[in-house]
Parts: sequence; C-alpha cells; structure tokens
Amino acid sequence: MVLEARDRVGGRTEGGVLAGHPVELGGTWLGEGHTEMYRLVAELGLETFPTWNDAGTLLLDLGGRRSRMRPHKGATPRLNPIALADLAQGLARFGRLARSVDPAAPWAHPRAALLDGQTFESWIRRTLRTPTGRAYFRVLAEAVHAADATDLSLLHTLFYTASNGDLETLISVDRGAQKDRVVGGSVRVAERLAEDLDVRLGAAVSGLVQDDHGVTVTTRAGAHLRAAHAVVALPPTLAGRLHHSPALPAWRDQLTQRVPAGTVVKCLAAYPTPFWRNRGLNGQAVSDTGPVTVTFDVSPPGAEVGVLLGFVEGGEARRWQRLTAERRRAAVLDRFRHLFGPQAADPVSYVEKDWSAEEFTRGCYGAHFGPGTWTAYGPVLREPVGRIHWAGAEYAVEWSGYMEGAVRSGRTTAEAVLARSASRAPAAVTAP
Ligand SMILES: Cc1cc2nc3c(=O)[nH]c(=O)nc-3n(C[C@H](O)[C@H](O)[C@H](O)COP(=O)(O)OP(=O)(O)OC[C@H]3O[C@@H](n4cnc5c(N)ncnc54)[C@H](O)[C@@H]3O)c2cc1C
Repeated sequence: MVLEARDRVGGRTEGGVLAGHPVELGGTWLGEGHTEMYRLVAELGLETFPTWNDAGTLLLDLGGRRSRMRPHKGATPRLNPIALADLAQGLARFGRLARSVDPAAPWAHPRAALLDGQTFESWIRRTLRTPTGRAYFRVLAEAVHAADATDLSLLHTLFYTASNGDLETLISVDRGAQKDRVVGGSVRVAERLAEDLDVRLGAAVSGLVQDDHGVTVTTRAGAHLRAAHAVVALPPTLAGRLHHSPALPAWRDQLTQRVPAGTVVKCLAAYPTPFWRNRGLNGQAVSDTGPVTVTFDVSPPGAEVGVLLGFVEGGEARRWQRLTAERRRAAVLDRFRHLFGPQAADPVSYVEKDWSAEEFTRGCYGAHFGPGTWTAYGPVLREPVGRIHWAGAEYAVEWSGYMEGAVRSGRTTAEAVLARSASRAPAAVTAP
C-alpha cells in the first residue's frame, strides 16, 4: 500500500499544460544509462522522443561575453585561448578526481577527509585562474545541484558526478542526461504505475511507531496502518520531519538535519513557433547572469508550438522568489529576450513552478551534502532503522538525484525488505 500526501501521484515529476500541450513542471529527461527508466517506459506502453538538439548552437554567456558552442558531447566552447586552457585543465582535474571516487562509498576514498573538508567553491578558487573558468564551474554547480558552489562539499560534487557517469554525461543532451523525454510527460510513468497499485491519495503520513513486530503508520487525518515493514520513500530531510516513536537514533536524526534540498524554479514560456531554431540557436544557453542561468528547448515533438525552459537556481532562486509574480515573470522574460532576441519577450503562455514552496517536497532537484556530511554520516545513509527502510533518488548509488536513481533505489530497498520479511503480516487499516 502506498500512502501519498498529495492529491496526485508523481511527486517531483508533475504534468502541466502550456498552449494546449503537455509540459513537465518537474523531472523531465531520461538520459544515457538510465536503463531502468527506459525499461519501465516500454513496460508501461509509453514512448520517448529525443530532446531537440539538431541544428544550431548553444549559447555561453559568461563574464559579460557571449560565445557559441556546438551542442555535442566533446565539443569545445569558442572562448579566448587563455580561458579555454584554464577551463580544460579544470575539467581534466575534476574528471580525474571524480573517477577516483566510488559512488557506493565516497567516505572510503583515501583522501575523503580532505575532499569533504572543503566546499566546491574553495576548489574552484584554487584550481581555476580565469573569471570565465570560475564562472563556468559555478554555473555548473547551479545547473547540476540547484545549489551554489559555496553550499556543496567537494566530495559531494565528485560523488554525484561519479554516480551519474561523468561531467559530460551530466550536462549533455546527445548521449547525456538530457537525451529523451516521455511522450505526454514523465509523470505518465508514475500515473501508469499507480493504476496497478493500492495508492491512497491525500494521505499525508505524520508519524511512525515501531515495535518488535511491525510498524504503525499514522496519517494526518488520523488513520492507522499496521504493516510488518515501512519504506519511507521521502528525501531525508522530509523523513526527519515525521514523528518517530521511539525517536530516531541520534545518528539518523542528525543525518536528516544535514542534507538540505536544492532551490530550483522551473519557468516555461510558449511561443507560436520555436523561432530561435531559424536563427541558428538550439534553445540551450548557459549564463552567469541571473535569474535564469540555464535554458532548454522543450517544445512538443511535432513543434506545433515553441517552448523555452529557464531554470532559476540556488542563490538566484532565493532572491527571485521574494519578488512579486509580475516582476518574477518580467525578469525571466528579459533574460530570454537577451539570449534569444525580441520575440522571446512576448510568449503566448508562461508558467513557473517553485519547488521549494511545495509542502511535500521543500526543494529540488534533490538533496545535497555540505562539507563533512559524507564522511560523518555517509556510511549510515542507506541503513534501515529497525523495520523502517529508506528509498528514493537521494539513496541511489547509481544515477543519484535522477528518476533513474529513484527507481533503482526503490528496487534495491524492496528486495531488502522482501528478503527480511519471510513472515510478513498482512497490512491492516484502522480508520480514525
Ligand atoms: C525542476 C526539476 C527538474 C528535474 N529534472 C530531472 C530530469 O530531467 N531527469 C531526472 O531524471 N530527474 C529530474 N529531476 C529529479 C527527479 O524528479 C527526482 O529525482 C525524482 O522524481 C525523485 O523521485 P523520488 O520518488 O525519490 O521522490 P519524490 O518524487 O519526491 O517522491 C516522494 C513522494 O512522497 C510524497 N510525500 C511527501 N511527504 C509525504 C508524507 N508526509 N506522507 C506521504 N507522502 C509524502 C510526495 O508527495 C512525493 O510524491 C528534476 C526535479 C525537479 C524538481
């Protein structure tokens, strides 16, 4: 039985409609190596289509200078030779470090204390010499973690990169993490799965009481459910907000206090056509001028309309979310206009989704680890507490933070529970 707090399934994936076409308000792309998601999509009778990446170039807008780049894996940005050399040595060093981290046990790295004792920002300042090189890595932190480089442990950025293949895979479309989309939106996966499951919507769990024989789960509405085991499939910080009896062990509770969610707002604007394609642009941009730092073309497969996606992330999001709705929209469209021309200032529809304002998510894309957390608490992250188990994107060894990681973690945890529950008691429900 699945207890879902919202009145819909999908969690961090959510469907919306813009100019009459389905759009993703949350998790969007399936990527290279996301084998479980592709398998699930096929099993559920759904289909994928490739992200628009065909013609045109990606825009780099760093340090007040604009340049273009072919959008394919391994492509080199057109920067001045000094910035390019700086960036190349930074990427090579980061790649070497990431390859030395085992995503199953980042705390076991021979230099774990050193790598976890510094922020990603400290590493950027030490390793990159040019403003453009530094700006590139800072935008990378925002784009990948929805957090600022100052928020992140260096070891965490290395873990996350190793967990998701490599840096190129994380940021690329072709053969990368942004390769394909699900026809009708990624939320269709959860909706189809739910058809065959016992899902109770609007059932926000408030607490768990466990004894030697099982777990009693209580909802806010006062229903009590008894089961042999419970899987808390929430990001760790939300799991820590539930009432636990007996109280969670200190090491578990302290862990839940140390893995904050990122801050991301997704802004989508629809136009009569994807006009940027005719201007030799593919709709992708990376900019260090906020509020929008990363953009994508997320038009529907037939391109009946053009849809631009802009991410507002990290510190930019924290500042932007305090503006009025009118000023927020104006600030986003002003960046779209700057990047893609005057037509971008006048969409036929516009929508924004602030994931940190969602009661049952509290921030996205997922959790990040600040300095010292992996080394102090990493070994217990995936460890059950008695009959309470943990699952979700944050617990995945491979493809951490992604839908793929959530599915893999779900399978691993389900297998562990089934292995332990040979004498499984049937679930019983008591209404309030
Ligand atoms: C803007 C954005 C863009 C993203 N882009 C991508 C992408 O392109 N590709 C990709 O793979 N991933 C992407 N992600 C990340 C991806 O969406 C998540 O990693 C994944 O969906 C997490 O799944 P999960 O099951 O671990 O967690 P969740 O989806 O968060 O599921 C947790 C569920 O628990 C429910 N819940 C919360 N509190 C309670 C409670 N007290 N009681 C009962 N239920 C509760 C929630 O409502 C939710 O349904 C993105 C996320 C966002 C927000």
